[in-house]
Amino acid sequence: MIRKLNFKGCNCYLIDDSGKTYLVDTGTPGNLKRAKKCIGNLDGIILTHAHYDHAGSAFEISEFFSCEVYAHIAEHPYLEGRGEFQFNGFVGRMIKRLESLRPMKLIQAEDVEKLRLREFDVVHVPGHTPGSIMLLKGNEAIVGDLIRLRKKRFIAGEYVVRPSSRNFNWNQSEYVKSLEKLGNLTPLKVYPGHGVSITLERSFMEGLGVRRR
Ligand SMILES: [Zn+2]
Ligand SMILES: [Zn+2]
Repeated sequence: MIRKLNFKGCNCYLIDDSGKTYLVDTGTPGNLKRAKKCIGNLDGIILTHAHYDHAGSAFEISEFFSCEVYAHIAEHPYLEGRGEFQFNGFVGRMIKRLESLRPMKLIQAEDVEKLRLREFDVVHVPGHTPGSIMLLKGNEAIVGDLIRLRKKRFIAGEYVVRPSSRNFNWNQSEYVKSLEKLGNLTPLKVYPGHGVSITLERSFMEGLGVRRR
């Protein structure tokens, strides 16, 4: 089961793994109220990566439900405040500014690869950030910010697959490799961090037009 929740900041999902319930991503700070409304109990929080719009409420939600936060070890420095992500360009600078107005609480995370989920595979897809992961179950995957789904302007109900902005990517060539990894898993129903879920076909790669560097 993958259920999308109505949180602020990014798409957050509740998953069931052999009777255990995990929250995947937590949105921007301030989502605890929403979490209390729709989550009964929680066995853990899994972060696809440490960006503010995904990890922002991890501290408050994990405290309330007394559960651990799991992320790839390469993301731990950012969660613990020992590292800082680069955001370039005008939008990037604006995001940084907004984040500083309401800073994210520091998080002591556990290694997601040691969590040993039964039904989901944790797949390391570095590039957007060093420790970005996706959660794969059969032909479904929660992909974080590996790709985003944008509404086509003026055409109702149609969506376009977009790559994550290179201004926010940690390593563009690693990112392209991870996209190829995703391409090899198609057709795949994707649950992105931003935008709607769609079934991704192999041909999506051609439409992306990503630059390698
Ligand atoms: Zn991100
Ligand atoms: Zn995001």
